[in-house]
Amino acid sequence: MPLEIIRTSSIIRETSKKYHAEGKRIGFIPTMGALHEGHMSLVQRARQENNVVVVSIFVNPKQFATGEDFDNYPKDYGKDTTMLLKAGVDVLFMPNASDIYPNGFCTTVNVMGITDRLCGKFRPTHFSGVTTVVTKLLNIVNPTRAYFGQKDYQQCAVISRLVCDLNMDVQIVPCPTIREKDGLAMSSRNIYLNPEERADAPSIYKSMKHVEEALKNSKLPLRQASRKLNELLLSISTVTEVQYASVYDPESLVEITDVLPHGNGRGPVLIAVAVKMGATRLIDNLLIQL
Ligand code: AMP
Repeated sequence: MPLEIIRTSSIIRETSKKYHAEGKRIGFIPTMGALHEGHMSLVQRARQENNVVVVSIFVNPKQFATGEDFDNYPKDYGKDTTMLLKAGVDVLFMPNASDIYPNGFCTTVNVMGITDRLCGKFRPTHFSGVTTVVTKLLNIVNPTRAYFGQKDYQQCAVISRLVCDLNMDVQIVPCPTIREKDGLAMSSRNIYLNPEERADAPSIYKSMKHVEEALKNSKLPLRQASRKLNELLLSISTVTEVQYASVYDPESLVEITDVLPHGNGRGPVLIAVAVKMGATRLIDNLLIQL
């Protein structure tokens, strides 16, 4: 089956209705394009679990603040469509901003609390842009399941909360982070890195792994994890800023500074970081079991 490219929400809505009427399960992957193997891992998972796979490419203006990289966000629609075709995706939904946000649009969807932490502190309008567009895309495509990468751990957590709180009839499937061979988490923004920064970038993952090992071997008390992680990240010569780097409760995303909230000193915790390498902001995380 060739890849069907749909540009308007009214048409994809009808297409989705037709698939549902045929009893087909729809797997949906929202993206901003500039696709890489990370995105394609979500596509593969969706193909395994559904009859039809829909991918959207929409660079959502509402999730970028003034001065962020909306205008320069990497675009390569030719390469994207070739990758999607090869991967056996059924439908590519590629709307214009005027289709998603027509004149008179004035609704915002906000998830409270967990959006204030981690990235939310540094990008205060970002998550309301994400939750607004994801609500719209889920309403338009009406998928059985929607796939999100844990590379954006907080985004996954926020979307899961949104879908639960608003009783939306879709299953959210979190998928593992895909990395380059040297450990750098794949991201469309990695192409912004100059050669020196790119060579340094795997040290972000290495720093988190170092802290993971030290915590697991009881060589580092939990209360010193953030200090150690900051120290390691700041020792990377191209890192110009550490926005956050610590250990967090994987559900509430509240920082864990001493005793684990699980009580018995065990359980999963999230190591999460956001750093700037020159002008490029990189995030990464590790969900670890203590
Ligand atoms: P984006 O195009 O950056 O908005 O990402 C679209 C989806 O792909 C989101 O759910 C991301 O979390 C996911 N994604 C991006 N990079 C990766 C990666 N390296 N591994 C797994 N999923 C990813």
